[in-house]
Amino acid sequence: MKKKIYDILVVGSGLSSLSFIDSYLEKNDKIDIISFKKTKKIFSQINNKHILKILPPQMIGEEKQVLDYFSINKIFIKNKTKIFGSLEFGGLSNYWGLQIDKNIKKDLIHYSTKTQKKIINSFIEIFIKQNLLGEVDKNNQNLFEKNPYIDEELLKNNKFFKTEEPILAFRKKARGKKINLNLINEKKESLTANNFFKRNLKNRKIIFHNYFVEKISKYKKQIILQCSNGFQKKTFITKKLVLGCGTLVTTKLIMDYLKINTEIKINHHPRLFSLYFSKKKWVNKMNFQPSHFHLKLKNNPSLFTADFRPGNKLIIDALIKFKKILFPLKFLLNFLREYFIFSNIFIHPKYSNLYIKKQNNHFVVYSKKNYQNKLFKEFGKKIYTFLKSSKKIFPLYINYFPGYGADFHYFGTLLMGNLKKSILNENCQLNKNKNIYIVDGSALKFQNNKYPLGVIMANARRIGKEI
Ligand SMILES: Cc1cc2nc3c(=O)[nH]c(=O)nc-3n(C[C@H](O)[C@H](O)[C@H](O)COP(=O)(O)OP(=O)(O)OC[C@H]3O[C@@H](n4cnc5c(N)ncnc54)[C@H](O)[C@@H]3O)c2cc1C
Repeated sequence: MKKKIYDILVVGSGLSSLSFIDSYLEKNDKIDIISFKKTKKIFSQINNKHILKILPPQMIGEEKQVLDYFSINKIFIKNKTKIFGSLEFGGLSNYWGLQIDKNIKKDLIHYSTKTQKKIINSFIEIFIKQNLLGEVDKNNQNLFEKNPYIDEELLKNNKFFKTEEPILAFRKKARGKKINLNLINEKKESLTANNFFKRNLKNRKIIFHNYFVEKISKYKKQIILQCSNGFQKKTFITKKLVLGCGTLVTTKLIMDYLKINTEIKINHHPRLFSLYFSKKKWVNKMNFQPSHFHLKLKNNPSLFTADFRPGNKLIIDALIKFKKILFPLKFLLNFLREYFIFSNIFIHPKYSNLYIKKQNNHFVVYSKKNYQNKLFKEFGKKIYTFLKSSKKIFPLYINYFPGYGADFHYFGTLLMGNLKKSILNENCQLNKNKNIYIVDGSALKFQNNKYPLGVIMANARRIGKEI
């Protein structure tokens, strides 16, 4: 029997692929996706258990998925690195946080003005279509009530710091009034891959193939995908291929395809966790409140971004899981949680310390140097000093570095456009095969933006219109 040849196949069903598909289907009537759903079969053979030492609160209970993701994709994570992944409908996009940077332009300056405009337009379209909270310009805003405990008022006359407001990835329309975040249905209204699919794509003609891709190769003008579902192998043939498997897997598939045996640096934003003790209760009724503002250095805004959120049940559960010794204090910690202020401090990708390399028939992810102590202490102290001077916290804080990779922001391995070492052109096509398109974070770099998903989705949406 003659094998079916697809015109186009998308791999992955995270927010990058779905954003691509959403705009692709504006002009086309159907699409096929290869993406693997949760399964009971246990794949985990590669010993990656050390990465589970601290699962982010959103991913607690998903241990098997995380391990299977690496086993299936034959990626071995060396000790000390804490990269995460989860192979199921939506991948990491189903656990992702709640904030998007809105000043995306600064990270697009390497591209032609035409490309910059297209990505920015797609970004605004996503904001409007998904009814996100915040403001992209004066005409497009869904304003929400900010918590006055830690807000931009604190920084009015600050010499060193400035604030930026993120977009919050919840759906809601303001209709002239400010939205009360405590009344948001977090599960239903957040921008996860599953919710995006239900809202925008459920009634479209999308055919899911429940397989994972093991290898890509070329035959004449076509692309061959060798896939498996753990029991059976299957081969797909396509004229055009769109990869949105998340940076790690897309990078490994392309390294294999291009026979790159040298190491590739994975860009990321090393993260420091800080805990401060507030003098007053920071009342909030959300399970996981996003930060209402980001703190940056005035003289070097891309060096780091700090965000602030009150303690919540999910974070306390994660804390206890990680430090079992705290279990007898669970009740007390929950009682006091609204006095805790948690901060993520995401650092410039020049301090990235993750690498991927092919080794025999699998891939290894590892880190090399160890910067964290001096650098992180310095940043942590700066922020603590600022909060202390505001008289909002007690003179006590805890910094914790969860390891390289535990920021979940992996990007910039293949890069597009005119950048050094670009493997892709400005349309995100592989220079060596224009029929392969990359729509996830591996094509982009985020120096100013420390919350990359908005740009990833906007770029994928742009490619979906143009392909
Ligand atoms: C807890 C957490 C909090 C986060 N918070 C934020 C935040 O606040 N702001 C922000 O901007 N970003 C945040 N991120 C990062 C964000 O989640 C990622 O940037 C985003 O998920 C990337 O989307 P993606 O579609 O490229 O990849 P993914 O969401 O990982 O999707 C990849 C897809 O590919 C599929 N896949 C993988 N391997 C294969 C294979 N071999 N064959 C077929 N399919 C495959 C997966 O099943 C999945 O469908 C957070 C991440 C986590 C985990």
